Amino acid sequence: MISIGSTPSALVVGGGPAGLAAALALAAAGVPVTLAAGPHRPGGQDRDRRTAALFAGSVELLRNLGVWDGLKDHCAPLTAIRLIDDTGRLFRAPEVTFRAAEAGLDAFGYNVPNAALLDALSARADTMPGLTLHATAGARAVSIAHGRVTVDLAEGDQISAPLAVAADGRGSITRQAAGISAETWSYPQAAVVTWFTHQRPHEGVSTEFHRAVGPFTTVPMPGRTSSLVWVEEPGEAERIMALSESDFRRAIETRLNGLLGTVGEVGARAVFPLSGLTPDVFGRNRVALVGESGHVIPPIGAQGLNLGLRDAATLADCVVEAIAEERDPGGSAVMDRYSALRAPDVNGRITAVDILNRTLLSPYLPVHLLRGFGLHVLNIAGPLRRRIVQEGVQPASYVPLMMRSGGLDLVRAGRGAAALASPA
Ligand SMILES: Cc1cc2nc3c(=O)[nH]c(=O)nc-3n(C[C@H](O)[C@H](O)[C@H](O)COP(=O)(O)OP(=O)(O)OC[C@H]3O[C@@H](n4cnc5c(N)ncnc54)[C@H](O)[C@@H]3O)c2cc1C
Repeated sequence: MISIGSTPSALVVGGGPAGLAAALALAAAGVPVTLAAGPHRPGGQDRDRRTAALFAGSVELLRNLGVWDGLKDHCAPLTAIRLIDDTGRLFRAPEVTFRAAEAGLDAFGYNVPNAALLDALSARADTMPGLTLHATAGARAVSIAHGRVTVDLAEGDQISAPLAVAADGRGSITRQAAGISAETWSYPQAAVVTWFTHQRPHEGVSTEFHRAVGPFTTVPMPGRTSSLVWVEEPGEAERIMALSESDFRRAIETRLNGLLGTVGEVGARAVFPLSGLTPDVFGRNRVALVGESGHVIPPIGAQGLNLGLRDAATLADCVVEAIAEERDPGGSAVMDRYSALRAPDVNGRITAVDILNRTLLSPYLPVHLLRGFGLHVLNIAGPLRRRIVQEGVQPASYVPLMMRSGGLDLVRAGRGAAALASPA
């Protein structure tokens, strides 16, 4: 019998959005968990300036974790996604607009500021029963022996559990301790991120201008405000970062070509080099990878954190199932099941985004023709469009319980493997 009393069944290393969501999902499901994370400073200068477009399943998870009500006023619904070929090339793809209504949804999801999301998740972690917060300057070493993972913290403390969740980001020492190797690569691109106000309403539409150096994407925020992810060659991104506010505002207006009217206030800027990471497996040696410890993907198609939240909810399913059957929550059966559930979703999306990005960067006409043809087919083929819209938002093959309406009750009811395997 695995003890699920006061000693933790799981420890989570890393308090980014994926780690917080994993700790909350496990605790909400009744699994005692310790979260080792840096102290959270609401309103601090180091706040993340990105927003994340979170799809319906991710929003459902936040609802089930009790954080959505305090967060939703900071977020804007996404009712449509428009792709515009702005490559200026000989052969251009047609404009394509995916509407949430095509998938029978009011909205694909919501655009959520990362800083507000971290505030809401951290506040919930402070009060969540079964979750012990261990504020730390960081994990220094991780060892795995005798059926437990032990983490040495910077302050000299040690914490241990039969299962560790590696949520310590792309350079994860927890992943390395488990002997999980990762392939990493970089793109000749960097994303400049900010927000801006504008004269015309966005009407809930996110627009991706596909340019030869990468996309320029606006994503709705509440009111007449949008967030911006502007991908450029790294040297050009640095130049944009150094522009005066008025030149930056004008540069945004030029790129938008009048789409949102005059640009008003612009927010602070941040720059992110584009890179990728895939591990050889998503769980091994009592360590499950969650968030960017297990996948890094360019900010195209808003997939990164949606994947991270699906990791968190899927892991909760696997661990709850194991504990209900009195199995070891960090045992190889759980690790194998988790890995098998996450691999197709993560690897499929990393491949699709990589291809989309590389077809933009490619100088070859046949590649442009192929891309244009693909988007043309999407424009005319209704069932294919619907399928792609639905799959982009959530994979049909597996929907974790906490990403379903009333999911917490389903998890608590301890439904077995049959329930977990069936789509919503
Ligand atoms: C420009 C841009 C736009 C994006 N837009 C979207 C979008 O629209 N939709 C979407 O779904 N995703 C988006 N993403 C992706 C999303 O931002 C990331 O997936 C997400 O922020 C990753 O969260 P995480 O918790 O996995 O990692 P992180 O936020 O990196 O968290 C890792 C945490 O671990 C901590 N840590 C590291 N080492 C240790 C240690 N040794 N001990 C303890 N703690 C440690 C770190 O301090 C940090 O708090 C975007 C990304 C970029 C770059």
